Amino acid sequence: MSNEILLWDNPRIKGEQAHKLLKQRVLELTLPPHNLTRENIAKMVNRSISKVYHLQRELVEDGKLQTSQSGHIIKAKPDRLASKYADLTQTQFLQIESVIKWRDSLKRAEVKKYKYMIVNFWKVCKTLDVHPDVFLIDDMNEVNPLVDKFIQLFKEGKTHYLKNNAVKDPLRQSKASPQAYIEAIRSFIRRNGGDIADGDLVIRRKPVDLYAKAKLSDNQRLKGIRFMKENFGEEMANIFTLHNELGVRTTTLFTMKPRFEKITRTFDGSDENDKVRLQVPCTWYKATIFEQKQQKASKGGYFEKYIITPKAKAVVEKLKDEEPIHNYQSIKTAKDEYNERLRQLFAHLGMISTNPIDQKNYEENTMKWFYVHYPTGVMRHSCVHWLMRITGNNASAVSTLFWEKSETLKIYAKQSFDDLLQINDCAFCRPPIESDKRFRRFCNLKHAIIFYNNGGKSKKEMIQSA
Ligand SMILES: [Zn+2]
Repeated sequence: MSNEILLWDNPRIKGEQAHKLLKQRVLELTLPPHNLTRENIAKMVNRSISKVYHLQRELVEDGKLQTSQSGHIIKAKPDRLASKYADLTQTQFLQIESVIKWRDSLKRAEVKKYKYMIVNFWKVCKTLDVHPDVFLIDDMNEVNPLVDKFIQLFKEGKTHYLKNNAVKDPLRQSKASPQAYIEAIRSFIRRNGGDIADGDLVIRRKPVDLYAKAKLSDNQRLKGIRFMKENFGEEMANIFTLHNELGVRTTTLFTMKPRFEKITRTFDGSDENDKVRLQVPCTWYKATIFEQKQQKASKGGYFEKYIITPKAKAVVEKLKDEEPIHNYQSIKTAKDEYNERLRQLFAHLGMISTNPIDQKNYEENTMKWFYVHYPTGVMRHSCVHWLMRITGNNASAVSTLFWEKSETLKIYAKQSFDDLLQINDCAFCRPPIESDKRFRRFCNLKHAIIFYNNGGKSKKEMIQSA
């Protein structure tokens, strides 16, 4: 956060005036485009959360903020989408054969957001002032320039059918994504039997390769566990610790009721060249998790995950079998809160700004944007990176451990120049001379398990103390 003195903290501005300024700022931060949580507003204005709460109540009394029946503050105007769609049904637009065909096809396929897509497509046609059927011309050389023109008008905020606040803030608008509109055009063409070749009708490809680089170092993981515990309590720290280890999707993380099985084995840490035999008793946990079906087609089923780091093992020892790993009543609340805590951690680690407004202004296709918008995605990628490091970059082993099929998994298998230079490095048996402890590597999983079971000693250290 910047060090400048906030107006209401300025000793020269007194009482009522300071209160007025503070209240005005709280109002701004509550409403679009900021829509900040009370917690983040508190940070921005350097006041407690309860102070912000009281100011918001005052604003409600002043008639500047509205509340819903349940007393929650309404941040944005109610979604006008439904009425927009209803308006459309009165127009010529929904009498056009190709639009009817598209709508019926979307409904048959049970596409939930079909009204949203149709309204978006209507906005595209209105903005460009064209008949929908121009998108059905079987020549992308005709269609692509129209799409480009729409994107340009959209970025300039010149689409008349968008929300007002888009036009008010040109910088924000220039960074907004017209993806939803492009998707509507694609869907319209496809469901009318048209073909779209790869590379046509795309804005920019999602930089999966870039985002897949997201990872936490070993130290960041440990700092994260401490940060979560100190600031948000043990439960949040446990969730974070297990997520690091399991890398499951957030829904699975909060719905799973894993069954844990403790496994004890003694490994021989030495090889044929060592004079002493290093017998190392090792323990780890096998977690059996039932994955609920995600789509109608998939059946769901059991899968297995392994818990091997000391911190995560300690968490498991406190958990009950076949119970959720948290006490949240609502999965949605759990997810929202976890995402927010992760953003706070990333800010604490210096990965993103601590200022929530800066956070909202990151450009898409940058790492910082990914950290802010997909904090749990960062955790999943980080888990895969860690598994790659502890298995000697064994992609097929990782794909077995990770269980869930991930299209990004093949990206991890691609070794960088840096990876190639670290082949054969192992924190247990061959610690590198310039050891990078932030990202420990092991030549195989067995050496990683031995290391994690022996307080992080290398083989040499173990032999010396044997
Ligand atoms: Zn090794």
